[in-house]
Order: sequence, then structure tokens, then C-alpha cells
Amino acid sequence: MKVTVFGIGYVGLVQAAVLAEVGHDVVCVDVDQNKVDNLEKGIIPIYEPGLTPLVNSNFEQGRVKFTTDAERGVMHGEVIFIAVGTPPDEDGSADLKYVQAVAKTIATHMQKHKIIINKSTVPVGTADKVIATVSATLKALKKELTFDVVSNPEFLKEGAAVNDCMRPDRIILGTDSEYAEKKLRELYSPFNRNHDKIIVMDVRSAELTKYAANCMLATKISFMNEMANLAELMGADIENVRKGIGSDPRIGYQFIYPGCGYGGSCFPKDVQALVRSATGVGYTAKILEAVEAVNYRQKEKLFDYIMNHYNGDVKGKTIALWGLSFKPNTDDMREASSRVLMEKLWEQGAIVQAYDPEAMEETQRIYGSRSDLKLMGTKESTLSGASCLVICTEWQVFRAPDFDMIKTQLADDVIFDGRNLFDPSLISEYGLHYYAIGRGLSV
Ligand code: NAD
Repeated sequence: MKVTVFGIGYVGLVQAAVLAEVGHDVVCVDVDQNKVDNLEKGIIPIYEPGLTPLVNSNFEQGRVKFTTDAERGVMHGEVIFIAVGTPPDEDGSADLKYVQAVAKTIATHMQKHKIIINKSTVPVGTADKVIATVSATLKALKKELTFDVVSNPEFLKEGAAVNDCMRPDRIILGTDSEYAEKKLRELYSPFNRNHDKIIVMDVRSAELTKYAANCMLATKISFMNEMANLAELMGADIENVRKGIGSDPRIGYQFIYPGCGYGGSCFPKDVQALVRSATGVGYTAKILEAVEAVNYRQKEKLFDYIMNHYNGDVKGKTIALWGLSFKPNTDDMREASSRVLMEKLWEQGAIVQAYDPEAMEETQRIYGSRSDLKLMGTKESTLSGASCLVICTEWQVFRAPDFDMIKTQLADDVIFDGRNLFDPSLISEYGLHYYAIGRGLSV
């Protein structure tokens, strides 16, 4: 099937590559010429396991192409994905200007029926807005053409995006058009062989499903962080509590890890956007407001531990930092907890010596050169001359470090662990102090 994808970001690029891999003929359109040029040279703009060979092999075989030529893109696809960003507006609601720009572009160039698929995460009612924009543009251009607008939210996880798109848990189609449903069932049939994963519903329910999913996951994290903070104050160990509640099948073990807060491009913005949408319909989303507030506070947790440990004075201290990305297996730093920590440490005059397996370039791009940030080539080299070690991201490579070496290198023998990677009693055996989330201080 001829497919066009507008927006070559995490979602658009992965979706395009996966659709090309199963044999569809895909054209990707982006406004970023540099991104397109790089992709044509085999340079992939993001780190995502398995993505580089997948994109490059499909590009070489001509099944996926990259362009900034929107007209070419619109002419090509019988189905056209909108996969552009929907960043938070000033008040936190989702900004639809990129989605609407693509809708207008499609209407401007289309010469026959198109199925427009909204993959971006958008508030309930956006499909209606896209329909209005396309209709108005067609009318202004005196074109009498029909089109469908389908909501098909994306559920991929950064760090596992290729696998998630290749083997989706579910494919949500929000449409009341039989024609669009039939075409999209055909498009997705290679991913729907094991059992039927396609769930068809009305457009508004599909739009809300995406927000409900992300808000539920964010709620689980903030709930566990609330329990962790209580555990700490009450002398309990949240890791025991986690195992205790996870054993109940109604709760389960998945996604109940306490930590130094959630980040990324989705949870923070989607929780905020649903809170604002709720206000728009006269409802106060109290749980979601609390989820956001708890996360905001949790992102300061490591900084608070550090300041308490050092009696409020870290001026001139060198802090070793492991993990910069908002979660493992990605180079994405959007809303990462590490950024809150580093910025607060810098305000206090500390120097950060950091390492991340994939996010070093991104950190450099965000913060540029500054004397209080040293990006180191290995996790070990961050320890040189450092007073303490802080862990912000649970990369596998941080899970079994050489504690003897850490003890030798750190001036103050202390680890602040935002992801609860270690057994406190083990750390004590090495003579290290250990702060983790919801476990108290072990010495
Ligand atoms: P992104 O910022 O990585 O990529 C968006 C791309 O769209 C950029 O390359 C940008 O240049 C391009 N773009 C902007 N305007 C354009 C236009 N008019 N024409 C063509 N291209 C244009 O964004 P992303 O992370 O891929 O997210 C896209 C959407 O998918 C968002 O709504 C997001 O909430 C949602 N989503 C993201 C994830 C994720 O894990 N990143 C998961 C599920 C859903």
C-alpha cells in the first residue's frame, strides 16, 4: 500500500520503517531539511535499538524515502499519517499548530480521496478540527474531494519502539467509516496475524484512550513514589512493599517502580494536557493534578538528599552522575529528571561530571559548553575527583558496578540512587553510604 508519513520523529520514523519492512511503499515528509539529508546518508537522528539497520535497509531497497516536498508526499499516499509533535502550549494544553499545518497541506495538494490518520497524541475533538481544516481548505480551493480522518494513537515505548511497532499489543482505530476501517485493516494485517489486535471504536473514544493509557501509567508511578516517601518517613522499605503488593494479580509487578520521577516527551505533557482538557469541559481532574504535583516534587528528591547530606553546601563539589536520558535505551532528554538535578546543583555552585551510554551528544546540544558540566567518556571516569555518585537512569550497564573502585574514588563514600538499583546491605559491606528512594539511608 502507498503510505505517507508526515513528521520523522520517534513515532513517524519508527512507524515508517516498520511499515516499509513488511512491504508497504512509504514516503516520509518532514520540514527539517537537515534531518532528511542525514537520513538519505544513513544517519538516523535518534537512538532507538534496532532502528538504524531497519531504516537503512529499507531505504536502500527503495521502500522508504525521505523528503521535504509535501506535495510529493500528499500525491504518494492513499493513507497519510500525521505524526508531528503536539507540545504543551503555554497553559499546558496540547498545541495543535503542527497537526493543523499538516491537515492544511494535505488539503492543499490532494487530488483524490485520502485517508488521513492521526497518530499524534491529540485531545478529544481534534479529528473534528482536522476535518474542519481540510474541508475549509478544499472549499477555498474549489476542490470537491472526499476524505476520511481516523484516530490511530501510537502506544510505542521509547527504548523499545521498533519491537512495539512490530508486535503491537493493540491497534486502536477510531473511525465510523467502513471504507477507512477496511483499508487500515489491510495496512495493519501483517501485524495482526497472531490474534486480532485491532479495536475499532468511535473517534473520540480513540483519542481519549491514548491519554487514559499514559495518565494511568503516570498515576502508577506517582502512586508508588507517594508510597516510597511514606515508607521512608515510617521506617519501611518500599522495595519490600513493592514486592508485597505486586504479588496481588489485581495489582501486578509491572510499572510500580519508585524512583526520582517520570520524564520524557509523553507522560508530563499528556497528564498536563488532559488536566487542561478536563478544565475545558468544566471538570477538575483531581487525581491527575496530584499525579503531576507528586512527580514535580519527586524530581527534586535526589537534590534534597544531597543537600541534606551536605548540610546545604555543595559549592565547588564535584558530583559524578550516571544516566542523563529520561529512561534507558534512548537518548531522549526531554523532561528528564537528570536535568532538574543538574540545574539545581549548578545553582548551588556544584560541578557535574556525567556519563550516559547514549545521551551525551543530546546533553551537549542542550547545555553547550559550560565549566560546571564535564561529559566523561566512561562511567568510571566520572568518579575521578568526585565527592559522591548520583544515579538518575537505570541503564543495564550501571547495575553491577565495581563498588571497591567506587569506594576508592569517591571522596565522601556516598551514592544517591534515584532508581533503587542496589541492595543496601551489599553497599554497606563496601563501606559506602547509600541513599535510595523510599528506603532511608543505609550506612
Ligand atoms: P518528534 O518531535 O520526535 O518529531 C516530530 C517531527 O515532526 C519533527 O521531525 C518535526 O520536524 C516534524 N514536523 C513538524 N511540523 C511538520 C510539518 N508541518 N510537516 C512535516 N513534519 C513536521 O515527536 P514524536 O516524539 O515522534 O511525537 C509525535 C507525536 O506522537 C506526539 O503527539 C507525541 O505525543 C506522540 N507520541 C510520542 C511517543 C514517543 O514515545 N515519542 C509515543 C506515542 C505517541
